[in-house]
Amino acid sequence: MTRKNLAWIVVWGTILIGGLTACAGTASEAGGLPTLVPTMTALPPIVPTDVPLADPIALPPVNWDDLDRFRAAMRPAFAGDIDAFAHRNRYYIEARLVFEDEVAILRGAQRVRYTNRSADTLNEIVFRLYPNLPALAGRMVVYQTEVNGAPVEAVLAERDTALIVPLDTPLTPGASVEITMQFSVAAERGMYASYGAFGYQRQVFSGPEWYPVLSVYEEGRGWWMERATPSGDAVYSETGLYEVYFTVPDDFVLIMSGTEVETFPAGDGMTTHHIVSGPMRDLLVVASPIFGKTTSYVDDIAINVYYWPGDEVAAEQVLRIASDAVRIFNEQFGPYPFAELDVAETFNFTGIEYPGVIIIADRIWEPGDEFMEIATAHEVGHQWFYSVIGNNQVDHPWLDESLTSFTEYVYLRALYGEKRFKDTTQSDRDWYNYYKSTGAPDLPLNLPVSAYDDSNYSVIVYVKGPIFYLELEKLLGRERFMDALQLYYQRHRYEVVSSADVLRAFEDATGEDLDAFFYQWVGEFEGLDPAVIAEEQARTTVTQTQGAP
Ligand SMILES: [Zn+2]
Repeated sequence: MTRKNLAWIVVWGTILIGGLTACAGTASEAGGLPTLVPTMTALPPIVPTDVPLADPIALPPVNWDDLDRFRAAMRPAFAGDIDAFAHRNRYYIEARLVFEDEVAILRGAQRVRYTNRSADTLNEIVFRLYPNLPALAGRMVVYQTEVNGAPVEAVLAERDTALIVPLDTPLTPGASVEITMQFSVAAERGMYASYGAFGYQRQVFSGPEWYPVLSVYEEGRGWWMERATPSGDAVYSETGLYEVYFTVPDDFVLIMSGTEVETFPAGDGMTTHHIVSGPMRDLLVVASPIFGKTTSYVDDIAINVYYWPGDEVAAEQVLRIASDAVRIFNEQFGPYPFAELDVAETFNFTGIEYPGVIIIADRIWEPGDEFMEIATAHEVGHQWFYSVIGNNQVDHPWLDESLTSFTEYVYLRALYGEKRFKDTTQSDRDWYNYYKSTGAPDLPLNLPVSAYDDSNYSVIVYVKGPIFYLELEKLLGRERFMDALQLYYQRHRYEVVSSADVLRAFEDATGEDLDAFFYQWVGEFEGLDPAVIAEEQARTTVTQTQGAP
C-alpha cells in the first residue's frame, strides 16, 4: 500500500497553498483517509448476503510431483526455483466469475496440499477467509470440506475470517495432507467500501485473496488467526505454487498473479483461463471487459499495463515507470524471478501490491502525475519486499512498508540523480522533524498496525522507516549498505522474515554490531541482544532524568 504518499499530498499541497504555518492542522490528519477524500467515505455497514450453494465442482486428482508446468511462470534462469516447492503450499483451483442481480459472485473449489514444515505435530489446518474482513467488505462461504477424501466439519472463527479444519490423524513433521473445499465469494458493494481493494464497480472486478488462503503455522505459537484493522494490509501467508482454471465471460480481460498458459471456450459465452504461478504467497484477480493493454520487456520480464478507455497516454507513462523501476531494482537489490509483472488501473486510493500484480488508482492515473510515478515505483518495490520476501503485514508492517518506501529513494536517485534524491529525502526528514516538534510520539518502527493511529501510522512506518534506512546507509557507506540489502534479498527469497533477519543481514554483510542502532530506531524485537537493550534503556532513562526541568 502507498499510504505515505496520500498523506504527503496533503502536507505538500498545504505548503504550496498556505505556506509552512498551515501544516499544523494537516499533519495530524495525514493518515485519516476518509477525511482526505470525502467521496471515498466508507458506506454504512450492511449484512452481506450469503450466496446460495451451487452444485459442487468435481475436482480432478492432482499429480503433485509434476512441477514442469510451473516453470512457465518463471524467467528461464529461475525455472529451477520451482523444484524446492514440491513440498510447500500447493493449490489447484477451479473458479468461475458470474454476475447475478448486479452482484459479482465467484464460485470455486480448491484442492490444497499442505506439508507440515514445523517440528510440531498439527491437529488442525487453518485457512483465512479474507473477504469476510470488514476491510474487504465481501462475503466468503466455504462448504463441503474434505481431508484426504473424507468429509470433515470445519469450524469458523475470528468472525468468519478463519476456517479451522480438524485432522482426524495428526500431521507429523514432514507429513502432507490434502484438503478440498467448495467456496463462494460475493462482491456486492463497490470498491469504495473496501479501501479500493475488493469489489465490483463500473464493470471492474478486483478480488484480492478470493480463495481460502492457508494461514501460517508458527512453531511453538500455533496458527496465525489475527484480524487486520483496515489501516494496513491484511495478509500474512507463505509462498506456494498455484494452478488455476478461472472462467469469465468471453469479453473479459483477466489479470492474475502468475502466467496464463492457455485459454479455451467453456460454453455459454464463457472462456476458461489456465494460469500457473511461481512461488507466490497470494493471488490477485482483476477482471473486466473494459481493459486495454500495453506491454514492454525488461530483459525477459514482460511488463503488462492494463488501462481503462481513454487512459492510453498515462498507461504508456506507467509502463515506462514500471519498466524503469524493475530495471533499477533488478540491478540494486537482485533479480525479479518471475516471467511477468502486471499493472492494472482500478478503483483504489493510491496503489496496492500483490505478488506479480500491482493496482494503481484511477484517480492518479493522469499523464504527468507525480504521484502516479511514486505510487507505481513504490508498488513495484513491494515485489522485492512483500512478494518475494514476505512478512506478517499485520504485526510488523515496517518490514515491508519502510523498506519499500526506501525503494522510492533508490528509484529517484537512479533515474533523476542526486539533486532529486536529496530534495525528496530532505522533504521527508522535514516532515518527520515537524511531526516530532509537535510533541507527537516518536514511536518505534516495530509495532503492529493496531498500535499506531491515523495520526502516526503513516509518518512512522512510511517516513521514519525509510529515514532509518537512509541513516543506516550513512553509517555503513552506500556500497556496504547495498551489499547488505542484496544479501538480505538473496538469503530470504520466498520466505517470511522477522526484524531479526534484517539486523542479521546487515551485521553479517558488514561485520558491524548494529544492535544498538536498530534498537534506537526499530525498538525491541526477538533476536536483539538483551544486554544492548538493557544498556540503551538505562541510557535513555539517564538522558530523560538529566533533561527534566
Ligand atoms: Zn506499500
